[in-house]
Amino acid sequence: MASLLQVEGLTSGYGPVSVLKDVSLTVERGSITAVLGANGAGKTTLLRTVSGLLRPTGGQILFDGADLRSVRMEQVVRKGIAHVPEGRGVVAELTVDENLRLGGLWRRDRPDAAKALTEVYELFEPLARRRRSVGHQLSGGERQMLALGRALVARPRLLLLDEPSLGLAPRVTAQILGLLARLREQTGLTVLLVEQNVRSALSVADHGVVLSVGRVAMSAPAARLRDDDDLRHAYLGF
Ligand code: ATP
Repeated sequence: MASLLQVEGLTSGYGPVSVLKDVSLTVERGSITAVLGANGAGKTTLLRTVSGLLRPTGGQILFDGADLRSVRMEQVVRKGIAHVPEGRGVVAELTVDENLRLGGLWRRDRPDAAKALTEVYELFEPLARRRRSVGHQLSGGERQMLALGRALVARPRLLLLDEPSLGLAPRVTAQILGLLARLREQTGLTVLLVEQNVRSALSVADHGVVLSVGRVAMSAPAARLRDDDDLRHAYLGF
């Protein structure tokens, strides 16, 4: 069976500036793949291109074997790709419940939105308790849970998650990444995770891809990137 996501020779960027250059990677079904690399390496640009926010100037993006390049963003969502952007994109004026329902809106094709909402509340107990609180009353960790919950309401097959640990205490980060690992185990969710916090990311990932100035510098099983001192020093700088 083909990989869920195959990126081949991808070139993408902003206007005339190519940020990603000839990037190839595969994400296996039911795996967590961490995209690592320094600030400005192109990690966010990669997620934006896969989710259809940016149009690639070259290469291919295959999702479940089908080319995504000519597909519009809302269709990308319908195909089962959910993107949780850096900064989380929670609507501060809306309640937790309303924010979560927005996640379901994108997938009107799914008849089981109410069930998905209940499941998200079961998964994130703090959100269930704060159902009627508005976004700006939430803590950073709760907001990250809400962003993740909103993506999960759409029951994605592939979750693109950008810097979930940003601004969070290590304990909260561990909680959120632990939850990802659980979802992967229980539901077979596939995740492409961008993370500055390399140790945390490698603790839950199956595979790691290191980007450097828009190119893939290294791609290896997460355990190898974690345990091989030479690789770690060379590519991850610690
Ligand atoms: P960070 O962790 O700092 O977000 P990153 O690896 O995610 O880093 P990107 O955000 O993908 O990197 O940025 C890669 C390059 O693209 C950077 O040089 C950045 O300045 C540039 N860039 C990002 N967003 C834009 C934009 N909207 N317009 C023009 N250039 C941009």
